[in-house]
Amino acid sequence: TVGWLIDTTFLRGIDIESAKTMHLVTWWLHAILVAGFFATIPVNRFLHVITGPMNIATRPERPMGELVPLKMETVEETGLIGVGQIGDFNQQQLLSLDACMECGRCEDVCPATASGKPLSPKFIVTDLRGVMAHGGELHGVAINPDTLWSCTMCQACVQECPVLIGHVDLIGDMRRYLVGEGKLSGPPARSLQQIGNQGNPYGRPNGERLAWAEGLEVPTVESNPDFEYLFWVGCAASFDPRAQKVARATAQLLQQAGVNFAVLGKEETCTGDPARRIGDEFLFQERATTNVATLGRRQVKKIVTACPHCQNTLKNEYPQFGGEYEVQHHSTLLAELIEAGRLTNAAANEGEPITLHDPCYLARVNGIVDAPRAVLGAEKDEQYREMPRCGKKTFCCGAGGGRMWFEEPPAQRVSTLRAQEAIATGAKTLATGCPFCLNMMSDGMAGTEGGENVKVLDIAEVLLSRQKAQL
Ligand code: SF4
Ligand code: SF4
Ligand code: SF4
Repeated sequence: TVGWLIDTTFLRGIDIESAKTMHLVTWWLHAILVAGFFATIPVNRFLHVITGPMNIATRPERPMGELVPLKMETVEETGLIGVGQIGDFNQQQLLSLDACMECGRCEDVCPATASGKPLSPKFIVTDLRGVMAHGGELHGVAINPDTLWSCTMCQACVQECPVLIGHVDLIGDMRRYLVGEGKLSGPPARSLQQIGNQGNPYGRPNGERLAWAEGLEVPTVESNPDFEYLFWVGCAASFDPRAQKVARATAQLLQQAGVNFAVLGKEETCTGDPARRIGDEFLFQERATTNVATLGRRQVKKIVTACPHCQNTLKNEYPQFGGEYEVQHHSTLLAELIEAGRLTNAAANEGEPITLHDPCYLARVNGIVDAPRAVLGAEKDEQYREMPRCGKKTFCCGAGGGRMWFEEPPAQRVSTLRAQEAIATGAKTLATGCPFCLNMMSDGMAGTEGGENVKVLDIAEVLLSRQKAQL
């Protein structure tokens, strides 16, 4: 149609020689424009057309929840811990900076940005790209330490990025440098010190690890050496009074279902997850090596835990240290036990609406979405409500990336935003499957209008109450 229009208007009556000249001129004009476009790609905003696919093709394949280990030999050789200067990033990371098309999808889903913290994953990438192009100091000039500490490592940005940029790796590498330079202070530094000294970030004597189990006759690896499942309790459920109730509920459910399990008791220490995510790789590796030795000595093959952070580290990161286990979150084992008729999830929710906060390290990072819903019997419960951001698109509670150990002004709490979303569903119970989510969401509800009427429970507590209701 366009050709016909040009022919019947502008070109009507034109002679053959003029037509040939016009053809030549337009052909060359087109060729120069196309060549000019490609020639200026390295300096124009279409560079990502080339670098985007290159980044997708070269990005290393590994589980979303696995951070790359710092090799001690490399540290000894180079004296480098993490990334202090732009040139300390590897080639693939530098390429990824050029791949950004500035679409802002990462920023739209970032809980730190949404809660008013000084962090935008998009600006992390573009600011680093600025240093790469024009030089200059990285730490404290292009990237502020508070920006790096604001990240919950929820991986929402990584999941959304169309060119697969690894924001969490970039942030993690820069955090390692800050920790190596002794730039971490206050409560998070203290929690790392306590992981090193006492084996847990709460600073409690590790001998008190079984206090949560008082009166339950929970089997230990000593009293029941032929266990099938090791119940990895985790530091929160061992020492935090609220989370201890989740450990009790989980143990009671396992006992009621006749599962052959045992706990490590005082032989268990922190997995090292907070240390690795805050940036203390030496401490993490020391914890991982110790725990892998303990698990090997106790011939552990199957692990169940109620903490998605422990689950992620044991499953995705301990293989780096020779620890290979079948690791389950308690939601998947409990769902299997319900399916097998060894537990019941008959809705005994007193007719009250219930919703689920998907822990991001469970749903997004490890892809477990159906199991917690199966435990709650969500499919057949008319009172079950889904939040707008759910499943793999969940919204972090604010505790990840070691943020649990940072002080946070009430106005910047991610948990408040999440509590508002849960309250808007009309739910009277907010269920979750992570001791840190439980802690954060309880605080979030306490500080939010309407939250005083919403109970925050672990899925194991909901399920245990349903066993009791059936008696
Ligand atoms: S990991 Fe989460 S908190 Fe960190 S930059 Fe990405 S979206 Fe924001
Ligand atoms: S989502 Fe990826 S491409 Fe888009 S702005 Fe963020 S980093 Fe850049
Ligand atoms: S505490 Fe829960 S929601 Fe928060 S970061 Fe951890 S898994 Fe994600």
